[in-house]
Amino acid sequence: MRILVTGGAGFLGSHLIDRLMAQGHEVVCLDNFYTGTKRNILKWLDNPYFELIRHDITEPIRLEVDQIYHLACPASPVHYQYNPVKTLKTNVIGTMNMLGLAKRVKARFFLASTSEVYGDPDVHPQTEDYRGNVNCIGIRSCYDEGKRVAETLSFDYHRQNGVDIRVVRIFNTYGPRMLENDGRVVSNFIVQALRNEPLTIYGDGSQTRSFCYVSDLVEGFIRLMNSNEIGPMNLGNPGEYTILELAEKIQNMINPGAEIIFKPLPQDDPKQRQPDITRAKTWLGWEPTVPLDRGLELTIKDFRDRIEGNKQ
Ligand code: NAD
Ligand code: UDP
Repeated sequence: MRILVTGGAGFLGSHLIDRLMAQGHEVVCLDNFYTGTKRNILKWLDNPYFELIRHDITEPIRLEVDQIYHLACPASPVHYQYNPVKTLKTNVIGTMNMLGLAKRVKARFFLASTSEVYGDPDVHPQTEDYRGNVNCIGIRSCYDEGKRVAETLSFDYHRQNGVDIRVVRIFNTYGPRMLENDGRVVSNFIVQALRNEPLTIYGDGSQTRSFCYVSDLVEGFIRLMNSNEIGPMNLGNPGEYTILELAEKIQNMINPGAEIIFKPLPQDDPKQRQPDITRAKTWLGWEPTVPLDRGLELTIKDFRDRIEGNKQ
């Protein structure tokens, strides 16, 4: 198949491309390199079945493809809040452009949505029928509401135009290739511990998150895309940890002497998050296989190679 991956030079997109190329598909990667880098897809650049297009999805594009994995959108709060209006344009206009493309060429369309559609949830763990608790005027809303509109657009193109959609709600995912300045918690703590800097906990560290290793997530993507279910479907690892527990784990794995410091909690920071993955288990037979300790080991190795490699 000919498969388009938007945001393909980013963290999740590049891992997905590795899997699709290994399966023998022809892959078109579309990216504006805001948070993505050519380094992530370097190994495919000379492959005749791979094509890289530098393009911003807020502008329309014409391509012939069979499937579209739509991932383009900065995912870290630091990056999506840098230019919130652009984040909204990417989610709204960009998603509309990609759905328009799917409609025109009759491609199956996969939306990478997020657990952020649940906001600061008052239902725990979160099931797909929970409608969320999102502040529509807060500093996270460019992303949260942007993704909610992206889901709405997907379902309306499906109902109105018969576009074949798949919608996945991704919970915090980590792994090799996250940027050193990504700003999300796993990469921050690892980079800080490796550089012998204090690990920065926002708030008192009692807020929780559930961390999924990237290979597990990509497996779920491909299964959903090639199933008959449209979603929305939660994908994530139900193992739930406080941010303090995560900091201590990474501290012990890298640098037991590293300091832990506390900084102010950002506005609207969700207090708890844990996916209910009954749907993914029942519909796809999917569940995560990589425990946090193993996933962290692999991620730490990648950061160590990059950080220590840069020093030479
Ligand atoms: P990332 O920032 O590494 O990747 C996003 C990619 O999209 C980058 O390569 C970036 O350059 C590109 N991009 C951004 N705006 C664009 C635009 N206007 N036009 C073209 N390309 C653009 O983030 P990621 O972690 O790989 O996330 C990928 C997708 O998964 C995002 O849609 C994100 O919202 C979603 N998601 C990720 C997580 C997670 O934990 N990693 C959780 C929930 C949802
Ligand atoms: N966080 C932290 N220190 C950091 C970065 C993040 O304590 O250096 C906290 C953040 O406030 C949040 C959690 O870790 O409670 C997860 O943050 P992240 O940005 O990774 O993802 P999200 O908030 O979108 O789940």
